Amino acid sequence: MNKKYSYGKQTIDADDIKAVADCLASEWLTQGPALKNFEDRLCTRFSAGYASAVSNGTAALHLIGLALGWQPGDVVITTPITFLASANCILYCGATPDFVDIDPVSYTMDLNRLEEKLKDYKKRNVKVKAVVAVDFAGHPCDWDGLQSLAQKYGLQLVDDACHALGAKYKGKEICSCEYADVLALSFHPVKHITTGEGGAVLSNNRDIDLNIKSLRAHGVTKDADRLLKNDGPWYYEMQELGFNYRITDFQCVLGTSQLSKLDYFLSRRRAVAGFYDRAFAGREDFVVPGVVGQVQHAYHLYPLRIRFDRLSITKEDFFRLMSEKDINLQVHYIPVHLQPYYRRRFGFKEGDYPEAERFYLDEVSLPIYPALEADDLEYITSCLHSAVSSGGDRI
Ligand SMILES: *Cc1c(COP(=O)(O)O)cnc(C)c1O
Repeated sequence: MNKKYSYGKQTIDADDIKAVADCLASEWLTQGPALKNFEDRLCTRFSAGYASAVSNGTAALHLIGLALGWQPGDVVITTPITFLASANCILYCGATPDFVDIDPVSYTMDLNRLEEKLKDYKKRNVKVKAVVAVDFAGHPCDWDGLQSLAQKYGLQLVDDACHALGAKYKGKEICSCEYADVLALSFHPVKHITTGEGGAVLSNNRDIDLNIKSLRAHGVTKDADRLLKNDGPWYYEMQELGFNYRITDFQCVLGTSQLSKLDYFLSRRRAVAGFYDRAFAGREDFVVPGVVGQVQHAYHLYPLRIRFDRLSITKEDFFRLMSEKDINLQVHYIPVHLQPYYRRRFGFKEGDYPEAERFYLDEVSLPIYPALEADDLEYITSCLHSAVSSGGDRI
């Protein structure tokens, strides 16, 4: 049987399995020592002040919105080229989402357009509360630019860094939270490291972190310093409305084991990206992902643009031909503002964000994960070239 390829997949080896098996045989399946250990490792690895691990990346974003006090009437801005959760977290808090188009080279938020939008809101006396910036595909946003806009317009800055574990901006780990007020991670199997489902909130702000830790477990505290009164050793107080967004200990031991391999995973991903860059750079009808500014890309995705509008094959036929070769591609992303829910509720429409919409038509996410070897990559690129030049006929 042929190998099957998809755009992303986990790398699990014997020591990951042993770590989970050992945990399953231990005293604690959840709320035990593995949680704190994983959080400590995240802080150490990225030089971040605080980490709170949670049940998934979407929960991380939801709790961030709550901890930052988003509420009805607040406007929060994100990018249309992202996973739904970057925008949905705004709705979970009752705030109003808006979007800013992408930069045509880095595919992250276009800060000239962001400032235009901020000026416009200011003129109308509407307060923009926060920006959820996404380091798309693993390419850091222009964080210096975001910081100066945040100062000028009084914005909270959230980094949706679910694609960017290990990415660097001006020589510094993006996950150090040097640039954003607070940052969200996901450990879904397609991401850099996995816990099955899982996520984390990173920050350098103790109050935010305490708030996240309370909100992930029903808003309940047993911390003597925070109790309004104390009836005895059994006593706890619910001081705000939280959720059950906890992560288990066996997920956390997997996360710790995976984190120790992050540098290897990153080097493999960068090698795969380098191969594709050489295979497609400068070729007519292809655009390889750009790297803008002093950044180190983490390549969660390899978003290749193919000018289907100039080729004799449609994107649909191209996907079908590649899947007949056991190469299952994906598109990242369908612009969020064009989802039926967002159109219906907020009136977004085609033409609102032309750069994002153009990108959606061209974009194809090629397979990128640590296990891909040179012969896999040669197979994938040669199938891709044959498909593109086939005019849609079977290859
Ligand atoms: C994966 C992802 C999320 C959410 O992560 P889950 O763990 O699947 O909930 C949020 N934002 C972006 C950009 C992502 O890629």
